[in-house]
This record gives sequence, C-alpha cells and structure tokens, in this order.
Amino acid sequence: MKDIVFATNNANKLREIREIVGGKFRVLGLKEIGCNEDIEETAETIEGNALIKANFVKEHYDYDCFADDTGMEVAALGGEPGVYSARYAGEDCNSENNIDKVLARLEEAKKHGNDDRSAKFRTAIALIFDGKTEIFEGEVKGKILTERHGTGGFGYDSIFKPDEANCSFAEMKAEEKNAISHRGRATAKLMEYLKK
Ligand code: IMP
Repeated sequence: MKDIVFATNNANKLREIREIVGGKFRVLGLKEIGCNEDIEETAETIEGNALIKANFVKEHYDYDCFADDTGMEVAALGGEPGVYSARYAGEDCNSENNIDKVLARLEEAKKHGNDDRSAKFRTAIALIFDGKTEIFEGEVKGKILTERHGTGGFGYDSIFKPDEANCSFAEMKAEEKNAISHRGRATAKLMEYLKK
C-alpha cells in the first residue's frame, strides 16, 4: 500500500478521510511524519491555504501529500465566516464560540429584515502527486439552524442542515455525512484522480 500524507493534525478529519480512501493508501497525518509545526494559513482563499499546507509537506518532508481547507459561507453574512471559519470568534476560540457567533450574527441580520439562512460548506483539496499539483473542490448547500441539533461530527455540524437531508450533519452517521459532504465530494474527486 502506498503512503500518502494528509497534511492535518485534526483526528476527526483523518478518521473521515481514512473511512473514505480506505484500502488504497495508507494515510499518514502530520504527527506520524514527525511534523509538529503549526503551518500558518495566510492565504485569503481556501484553495490558497490548501496549497500552502501541501507545498510545505512536499518541500520539508518530500512525501506525496494532500491538504484541505474548508470554509462555511453564510449568505446573510456576506459569505462569512468563509476562509476564517476556524477562528471566526477570535484566535483562541473553539467550535462552540464560533457557532455562538454565527447564530448571534444571524439574529442581528434577522432584526435588520434579512432572514435568509442559506449557507454552504466548501472544501478545496490541494494534491501534490508524482510531481504534479492539482486542486479538487467539493461543496454542499444547506441552511443554518436556529439552534444546535445533534452531538456527532465536529465544527459547525450541529447548526448545518444540508438541503439533501432532513437533519443536521451532527445527527447523521459518519457514512451518511461523507456521502454528501463538501469534504466527501472533494475527496471523491481526489480518489477518482488517484485511481487513474
Ligand atoms: P478547516 O479549514 O478544514 O480546518 O476548517 C475550518 C473550520 O471549519 C473549522 O472551524 C472546522 O471546525 C470547520 N469545519 C471544517 N469541516 C467541517 C465539517 O465537515 N463540519 C463542520 N465544520 C467543519
């Protein structure tokens, strides 16, 4: 089985990706290749940040690798939090603070007459493989719920209901989420490419 690095330390994402790519590649996380650096995500787009992370691993560790970056874009908030989804409520925030901020901002928007709760998750995956660089994208459209539903998943999952389902991402089984999620779709494109 060929090794490929997924440039992340996020155990949830590693688990999700391993469930998807399963038997074809041995997916290594950053810790497993001895990379303990915090790779700074300084780009203004999710595609740019994914490239920064993939290039860093190739340059310093010489592994074929891929990196992803995800943003949740809320229409009534002008596309926020977008590329800033991980640190929406400030540098030391966590998912709970970030969710609180999204819900509070949407309450504000409603008071000003905008009750549109449409949102989408977008994932960009940058792959460096056999000397070539590719970008794969996946998105899922949905709505931001008015309160948290469910305890599964991570990040904004408990307030996001995909249009294709009647419950939040946090109320789904992992495989149900993977089948329609932004990351699942971007990863399917990645796998399609790697299979060739
Ligand atoms: P990242 O760029 O993938 O690290 O994600 C940026 C932000 O989006 C973080 O706050 C994550 O918690 C959140 N996020 C990423 N993927 C998901 C997901 O599948 N569901 C919910 N939140 C997510």
